[in-house]
Amino acid sequence: MKFSDFYKNGRPALSIEIFPPKTEKGVEVLFEELKILKMISPAFVSVTYGAMGSTRDLTKDLALRIHRELKLKTAFHFTCVGSGRIEMKDYVTSLACEGIDLVVALRGDKTADFKPAEDGFQFASELVAYLKTLHPFSMAVAGYPEKHIEAESFSSDLENLKRKVNAGADIVITQLFFDNTIYYSYVEKVRQIGITAQIVPGILPIQSLKQIQRITGLCGVNLPPALLTELESCGEDEAAMREVGVNYAIRQCRDLLQNGVPGIHFYSLNKSQSVLKIVEACRDLL
Ligand code: FAD
Repeated sequence: MKFSDFYKNGRPALSIEIFPPKTEKGVEVLFEELKILKMISPAFVSVTYGAMGSTRDLTKDLALRIHRELKLKTAFHFTCVGSGRIEMKDYVTSLACEGIDLVVALRGDKTADFKPAEDGFQFASELVAYLKTLHPFSMAVAGYPEKHIEAESFSSDLENLKRKVNAGADIVITQLFFDNTIYYSYVEKVRQIGITAQIVPGILPIQSLKQIQRITGLCGVNLPPALLTELESCGEDEAAMREVGVNYAIRQCRDLLQNGVPGIHFYSLNKSQSVLKIVEACRDLL
């Protein structure tokens, strides 16, 4: 099954992104969250790959467990920073042999002194092209409605997206954003340069002010002033912040669904409750 197949039945497809916990106890807690999230019938669950490959084995083990035990369609994220081709080949083909052939293919965030392996890759487009030579993977790639933080210009970043799609990517999943008009304008520009792949919006239900300031700071995403003020007014009350985050995401998702998005990819941060509340509040549009 390809990623694009999930968006073909006329109903928006929901997907869930999780990250691998570092401890066995953390994995058990996550499994309980996933059992709850199974109630929203996600089209797929995707497991991130830690910066510079730091969760290599954890990502693989977790993806396999979700695939085997929870019987959920599972995708694994894979980044090319820090790996040579043989290493990449061994990793991805071992997952393909187990029946997991949905890949979120990325360059990955690099450290300041990063140099690609001698036979490695510098950009995600090269990774996509290489993985296609190994196995008929279906691949999702990253899109940046507010431009990738390192890109020289918005248009050069769009050209990069085109290279990734032309190399064989099946769909695009966006970076998180908090202003839907930015997403709509992005889709328009993507279509203008001839990309026809589905552009699935990535939505992050905010859990805390500190955390979202860190995340948006790292990836250059704008936090609208009114949302920031609302979060600040919660003081130290994290439950209140989560409530603000859920209500904001509900408004965002309802608007996106009313405007015909193919689906929603939730950056769940391994928590089920916010996602469940959002989906419940959008039930009439799903
Ligand atoms: P690329 O598409 O290679 O782009 C990287 C930069 O290089 C961009 O600025 C681009 O414009 C520029 N560029 C590309 N090609 C060229 C060229 N030929 N010449 C000049 N410039 C070029 N990170 C992780 O480490 N693990 C994860 O699991 C993970 N999951 C993610 C999931 C999603 C949906 C998203 C949106 C991001 C995710 N990231 C993850 C973050 C991602 O790895 C970073 O944003 C990273 O900095 C860029 O990855 P990319 O695949 O977009 O890179």
